[in-house]
Amino acid sequence: MNSSGRYKVIAVIDTIEDKILHQSFELVAFIKQIFPDAASGVLLVITGRNIIEECGMLADKSGFDIAAVEHNDFYYPNPALLVKILHILQKKYNPEIFCLTNTIRNCSVVSAFSAECGFHCITGIESVSETDKGLMLQRSIFNGKLKEKVIVSVQKLAVTVNPGAFQLKQDDTEIKSEAFIEKIEIDEGVSGYKPVSLNENSDMESSLEDADVIIAAGRGIGKPENLEMVRDVARMFDNAAIGASRPVCDNRWLPYRHQVGVTGKTVSPKLYMALGISGSQQHIAGMKNSQCIAAVNTDPHAAIFSVADYIIIEDVNVFLPVFMKIYNKRKW
Ligand SMILES: Cc1cc2nc3c(=O)[nH]c(=O)nc-3n(C[C@H](O)[C@H](O)[C@H](O)COP(=O)(O)OP(=O)(O)OC[C@H]3O[C@@H](n4cnc5c(N)ncnc54)[C@H](O)[C@@H]3O)c2cc1C
Repeated sequence: MNSSGRYKVIAVIDTIEDKILHQSFELVAFIKQIFPDAASGVLLVITGRNIIEECGMLADKSGFDIAAVEHNDFYYPNPALLVKILHILQKKYNPEIFCLTNTIRNCSVVSAFSAECGFHCITGIESVSETDKGLMLQRSIFNGKLKEKVIVSVQKLAVTVNPGAFQLKQDDTEIKSEAFIEKIEIDEGVSGYKPVSLNENSDMESSLEDADVIIAAGRGIGKPENLEMVRDVARMFDNAAIGASRPVCDNRWLPYRHQVGVTGKTVSPKLYMALGISGSQQHIAGMKNSQCIAAVNTDPHAAIFSVADYIIIEDVNVFLPVFMKIYNKRKW
């Protein structure tokens, strides 16, 4: 532990069923960007039923001190219990900033905690820069229609950081110090809320926000039967989800929870593949922060190409079978 017994930054690493969610590592990149020299002032908190093994891996990967909080009711995400843990950590370490990954659950955690403890709460951070007045955090508001820049002093701040916004660089994982792992004991009776199961989603409609890869279908796929091909493409990747433009949901080809855009979800995966999507402003607002965008469209002037890194002027029905064939051949 650092000599002051205090941590400047506390970040919560998300887990499900005692396994770290990959996107949580991006918090390490965020922290290293805002506090490049703060290694000894950072504590990563990991919760679960039995997570000591994951702690070792996390310490090796981050070089930051780790606090393991084990409780039976943390086997599945438990926002209510997490708020209580943040209270305990705040009293124990008096940090200046709490960081969590931006998920709906974590937004409820930081807002409840901030209201109770007088912290400033900023959710959905997409980028950060230094100014002479303080740290400038940027995020999308009003469903992505506007960008908001907030200048903050890093004191009593609780933030959520958008998945995909901060990427770990090679030297982020070059560890310079030995991490300290501490187990924080909590009373079994402290929990008042027990999540009992998690239903796996059969249609990869799981969290669009958490997916590394989103394969998104637009009206240009032609008919709902062609969604099977879209699902086949998604199955080629780990942690992939299916997205959709609004007409696809309006036509009941997919439920509205797949919709990306101003009236749907805002996403920033590592890869966003737009299949037969024209690229209306309303759609682009929800996906333009993706790290890499590949768009397939028969119209060479489609607006989606203005934000695409890879432009494929082709019929999706022609492109996808060839793409899958080549991808599978290379893989093996
Ligand atoms: C208030 C409001 C909110 C909205 N919110 C959203 C939102 O959140 N999300 C959203 O997506 N939309 C939203 N919309 C709708 C939006 O304006 C567009 O109508 C919609 O995004 C268009 O969807 P699309 O690209 O799938 O369809 P289209 O605009 O019809 O485009 C289909 C595309 O497919 C291409 N194509 C056709 N056949 C093929 C083929 N065989 N192979 C390859 N390409 C092909 C065409 O060239 C075309 O570019 C909103 C609209 C309003 C008014």
